Amino acid sequence: MGKPRYLSKDVSLSLDTQKCIGCGTCTQVCPHEVFAVDSGKATVIDHDACMECGACALNCPAEAIFVDAGVGCASAIIIAALLRREPSCGCCCGDKKSD
Ligand code: SF4
Ligand code: SF4
Repeated sequence: MGKPRYLSKDVSLSLDTQKCIGCGTCTQVCPHEVFAVDSGKATVIDHDACMECGACALNCPAEAIFVDAGVGCASAIIIAALLRREPSCGCCCGDKKSD
């Protein structure tokens, strides 16, 4: 099975290559291999694979990436893992504690 695809025309991801310093962090944190670094600059190689989790923009030291990250469960889980926190997306499921 191939990589999951999302609604391409709705993906808000954009990259400002002028700001990029080529550190490669986006290639490490992106769970869908959206980026590659070539000749010292990041490029978007698979725009449609982006699920707008926001991890790349959150971790880019040059603020070269913009993405309108969702507030859904997947986004919350990924961000929580990166920040080593409990996930909280504000939906009905994740914030409930079982007795
Ligand atoms: S994390 Fe930011 S600065 Fe680093 S390679 Fe990716 S876009 Fe460029
Ligand atoms: S928002 Fe998430 S899935 Fe999209 S490019 Fe950034 S890290 Fe990858």
